[in-house]
Amino acid sequence: MMTPAFLRTYRVTVAVVLLAVPMALARPNIVWIFADDHAFQAVGAYGGRFGPLNLTPNIDSLGRDGMVFERAYVGNSICAPSRATLLTGKHSHLNGKYDNRGGYNHDQPQFQKVLQRAGYQTAMIGKIHLSGKMQGFDYWEVLPGQGRYINPIFITEQGRTEYKGHSTDIITDKALDWLENGRDDSKPFMVMVHYKAPHRNWTPAERNIKAFRQKTFPEPDSLFDDYSGRGTAAHQQDMSISKTMRMEGDLKVNRWPQRTAELEKLNPQGDDLVRWKYQAYMKDYLGCIAGIDENVGRLLKYLKDHDLEKTTVVMYCADQGFYLGEHGWFDKRFMYEESFRMPLLARWPGVIKPGSRNSDLVQNIDFAETFLDIAGVAIPSDMQGRSLVPLLKGRTPPDWRRSLYYHYYEYPAVHSVRRHEGVATRRYKLIRFYGKDVPNGEEWELYDLERDPHEMKSVYWDPAQVQRVSELKAELQRLRRHYAVPADQG
Ligand code: CA
Repeated sequence: MMTPAFLRTYRVTVAVVLLAVPMALARPNIVWIFADDHAFQAVGAYGGRFGPLNLTPNIDSLGRDGMVFERAYVGNSICAPSRATLLTGKHSHLNGKYDNRGGYNHDQPQFQKVLQRAGYQTAMIGKIHLSGKMQGFDYWEVLPGQGRYINPIFITEQGRTEYKGHSTDIITDKALDWLENGRDDSKPFMVMVHYKAPHRNWTPAERNIKAFRQKTFPEPDSLFDDYSGRGTAAHQQDMSISKTMRMEGDLKVNRWPQRTAELEKLNPQGDDLVRWKYQAYMKDYLGCIAGIDENVGRLLKYLKDHDLEKTTVVMYCADQGFYLGEHGWFDKRFMYEESFRMPLLARWPGVIKPGSRNSDLVQNIDFAETFLDIAGVAIPSDMQGRSLVPLLKGRTPPDWRRSLYYHYYEYPAVHSVRRHEGVATRRYKLIRFYGKDVPNGEEWELYDLERDPHEMKSVYWDPAQVQRVSELKAELQRLRRHYAVPADQG
């Protein structure tokens, strides 16, 4: 017999179920925003030395309304291979894109092809750095190679066209135009918005050159690192602010009158010149970041204004990390933390608890699987990562990975970073540099990130670490087998 109390509960339950059904059936849209070389140190949500400057309010809002990943990593810290992994869910040795040179096999399986077959409308706009025609995208418009900052050329199925303006603004304009005019309202969509910025040579829009001209930025503690605690690779790289960074090509001396006049007036020498170069570098790099953040704000505003906010997952990431003067460097490539780690933030209303922070070990092999899982599509068994959806829901599986595999291949090449592979756990990192330009063909380094978070001194030869080295070498071999790394690689 039904009591009035039971009836009330029954009615409420029915109402909740009826409301929940359309939401559960609706497949979310996905907006993936990807920057090139955006260091986590230059995202406010990660704190750090630029944190108090509030440089990225819009990007940070994704973390405030969603989740910040504290420990997201790349598998091969360089532009094109990172993008190949993004699309395939596989490490370089399986997708065939080892370095920035050489081609990319577009015919291979990629997540966007699966998503498209499952009924999603797919689009790619901006820097992809993989030559040849894109596949699996209903719409694509990409920069050739690295692309230009100013007046960029875009390639489509139809050919090449040049556009006037700054690439960050234009890529956003194109994404907004596609959202407004290119979309099929009967389908969920997935759009990848890939900025060229803040890649070298760090050219902000005019408004942000002006905005950053008078600013001064804190220096990292290791700006004058002498690499005494590290091996051959750190000593012999060619990516230092002091020697490698070019006054004209990188810092616009003799090209920007104000910059040239400042240098002539101050005429810094020695360490002061390195400090001046670092400040000029940060003005330009962070000016590019400001441009990205403004444009992320435009994308988020569009979603809000068009009633898409609640039904759209928005993720922000970069293709790898970058050195902002740490160890005296710019660029990336090394397995050291600044270039190995990436910023990663995600907003998914109703699913991610606002203000969450996740510290599990995640890697760029996980993104393709994540997009498919968000869409409720089965993940192909040959992809090598795992969906981040359980993590986004705050429920990390008990068997989540406890170590990461890394492998960098592009040597000999620009910046002269030796080939290396390695394994990282939550606390330790074992790196093996190899090749004929490394003493005896291989050279190992071990870091304890808890005691030495800035990786200033390898403890590989410390007698106290013998057992740990042995365990990590075994783990590296296990990962090589797990990820099917060919014996001739490394
Ligand atoms: Ca890059």
